[in-house]
Amino acid sequence: NKFVVGLTGGIGSGKTTVANLFAEYGIDLVDADVIAREVVSIGSDGLKAITEHFGKAILLVDGSLDRAALRAQVFNNPQQRLWLNNLLHPMIRHQMLTQVQASTSAYVIMVAPLLFENHLDSLVNTTLVVDIAPELQISRTIQRDGVSKQQVEHILASQMIRERRVAQADNIIDNQGENELLRSQVLRLHQQYLQQAADLET
Ligand code: ATP
Repeated sequence: NKFVVGLTGGIGSGKTTVANLFAEYGIDLVDADVIAREVVSIGSDGLKAITEHFGKAILLVDGSLDRAALRAQVFNNPQQRLWLNNLLHPMIRHQMLTQVQASTSAYVIMVAPLLFENHLDSLVNTTLVVDIAPELQISRTIQRDGVSKQQVEHILASQMIRERRVAQADNIIDNQGENELLRSQVLRLHQQYLQQAADLET
């Protein structure tokens, strides 16, 4: 029974930046996005099941998953989307728990953009939200990815609103200031989590 911190936040809020600061203290990261790709990688049971269900048309020539084709299959099709989620979510949860168990650090940070939306918070002991205003989410994501304002707004609209996410958080990191201001917040939380992990042991 490891102490697990669920780290979340909206698009461009700074989850990766924050997670990497915890990693500097030797804390292992379990990344939901990475695992979501692994469970449908070439040769995986996930990709086999998807191919049997949707046909070979959802594969690229190299045999990997054609994400755009799969998205098109489930877009505006709640029944197919449900089928896909029912297939993948248990695989993702299982793999996340496997990586948590394999970790040897004092506690584990589980990074998940949709921690609350996908009910992954049931897998963690405490939640940490990286919070910034929507205008900053938009400008930083445009800066990072070179995408349009509309594209970012579309993703923002598909995620939980800021107020609800913050209301569910056990701890909040304000990432609206300079990058340096993050370090002190992360260090304080790291010390808190070390203590909570130790308390869990006893
Ligand atoms: P996504 O959900 O889109 O994967 P994320 O939450 O992981 O995003 P990051 O990639 O960590 O967010 O940060 C978004 C962008 O904002 C990056 O380019 C990052 O370098 C930058 N950034 C993060 N924190 C700050 C900060 N305090 N000041 C300025 N820029 C920042």
